[in-house]
Amino acid sequence: MIVIFGSGIIGLFIANNLLNEGLKVKIIDVKMSGSATEASVGMLAPLLEAKPYENELFNLMLNSKKIWDSYLENDILKRKTGLKENSSLLVAMNEDEEASIYKKKEFIKKIGFETLLCNSSKTLEIEPNLNSNVRCSLFLKNNNQVEPKLLKNFLLSEIKKKGGEILRCSEFKRVSFFNNNVSFLKKTIKAEKIIIACGVWSNELLKKSFNIEFPMRPIKGVSVLLNAKKKYFSNNIWFKNIYLAPRDGNKLAIGATEDEKSFETTVNVDEIFYLSKKLWEYLPEVEMLSLLNFFSGLRSTIIDGNPIIGSLKKNKNIICAFGHYRNGILLAPITAQIVCKLVLEKKINEKFLFFSPNRFNL
Ligand SMILES: Cc1cc2nc3c(=O)[nH]c(=O)nc-3n(C[C@H](O)[C@H](O)[C@H](O)COP(=O)(O)OP(=O)(O)OC[C@H]3O[C@@H](n4cnc5c(N)ncnc54)[C@H](O)[C@@H]3O)c2cc1C
Repeated sequence: MIVIFGSGIIGLFIANNLLNEGLKVKIIDVKMSGSATEASVGMLAPLLEAKPYENELFNLMLNSKKIWDSYLENDILKRKTGLKENSSLLVAMNEDEEASIYKKKEFIKKIGFETLLCNSSKTLEIEPNLNSNVRCSLFLKNNNQVEPKLLKNFLLSEIKKKGGEILRCSEFKRVSFFNNNVSFLKKTIKAEKIIIACGVWSNELLKKSFNIEFPMRPIKGVSVLLNAKKKYFSNNIWFKNIYLAPRDGNKLAIGATEDEKSFETTVNVDEIFYLSKKLWEYLPEVEMLSLLNFFSGLRSTIIDGNPIIGSLKKNKNIICAFGHYRNGILLAPITAQIVCKLVLEKKINEKFLFFSPNRFNL
C-alpha cells in the first residue's frame, strides 16, 4: 500500500500512475482553502515559461510536455479534460514588449525551437479581436492548455475505477511513519511508502512530523473565469503580465496575479482590478465580458525555483513531490512518472536527480 498525502493535481496524477502499475493506493484528502490546482489556468507552455538560467527545469517541462502530447491521441481524455490542440500567441503592444519578443524568439531558437514572428496585420489575421494597436506577436505552435478542474474530476473518477481509495479528513499537521504504520488523526494505515504531495502545506507537515523543513514559501495567485457573448480567441494569448485561455462555450480563463502574501487566500478587489485593467489594454471590448468566477491559489515555491521530487535521505520510504510553483499542471505527468519509477524500481533516472530533496542536504 502507498499512502499519498494531498489530492491536488500532483497527488492525483501520482495515484493514477501507481494504480496503472497494479499498486494499492490510498489518498488522504484534506480540503484546505487555496489549493493551487483549483485556481490554475492549465497552460501547457514550456517555451513561454523557459528561462535562460533554468536548463534542468526546462528539460523537465519538455519531458512532461511530451507526455501531454501523447494524450492528444486519446479523444476521450481530450473531451473529458478539456485538453486542447491550440497554440500560444505572445503579443506585444508597445516598443518595450516588441523588444522583449525579439529576445524571446532568439532565446527559444538558441534552445532549439522555431517560432513564428508575426507583424501587426498577421497577428490580427490570427486573432482579429485583439486591440488593433498590436505591434507584433510570436506564434508558438502546440503550446496548448488543459482545464485543471475537468482534469481533476477525470483523475478522481479514474482512481476510483481502478480501486484507489480516497479518505477525506479534517485538517491535521502531524503524521507518524514507523514500522510500516502511518498514523494521523487517531487513524493507522499499513503502508510501505508515503508520498507528500500537499503543495504549499507540505513543509509544515514535514516539519512537524519529521523535523525537516525546505526553503519554501507560498506565492499567491488569483485567476478569473469570464463569460463572453461570442468567441473572441482561438489560441492562448500571452500578454506581458497576464495570459488568457479560451474555453468551450465562449468562456475565457484569465491568469494570474503573483504576490507574496503568506497564506492569505481571499480574493481582493485590487487583484480583480489588476487582471481586468491588463485585459482591457489588449481587448478593448472588455465591457462585453461578465465575471463567472474567481479563484485564489497558493503556489508552492522553492527558493531555487525547482520542484522537489524524490526520497528523503532520512527515510527513503518518504517521497516528496511538491514545489511546482507556476508549472504544476504542465509538470504533473513527468512528476508522476519519476515517483512511480522510484516506488517500483527504487531509483530515479539520472537526468532527474537534480530535483531530489537531497540538494538541500537536510
Ligand atoms: C492562479 C494560478 C494559475 C496557475 N496557472 C498554471 C498554469 O497555467 N499551468 C501550470 O502548469 N501551472 C499553473 N499553476 C501552478 C499549478 O496550479 C500548481 O503548480 C499545481 O496545481 C500544484 O499542485 P499540487 O498538487 O502540488 O498542490 P495543490 O493543488 O495546492 O494541492 C495540495 C493539496 O494538498 C492538500 N493538503 C494540505 N494539507 C494536507 C494534509 N496534511 N494532508 C493531506 N492533504 C493536504 C490541500 O488541501 C490540497 O488539496 C497556477 C497556479 C495558480 C495559483
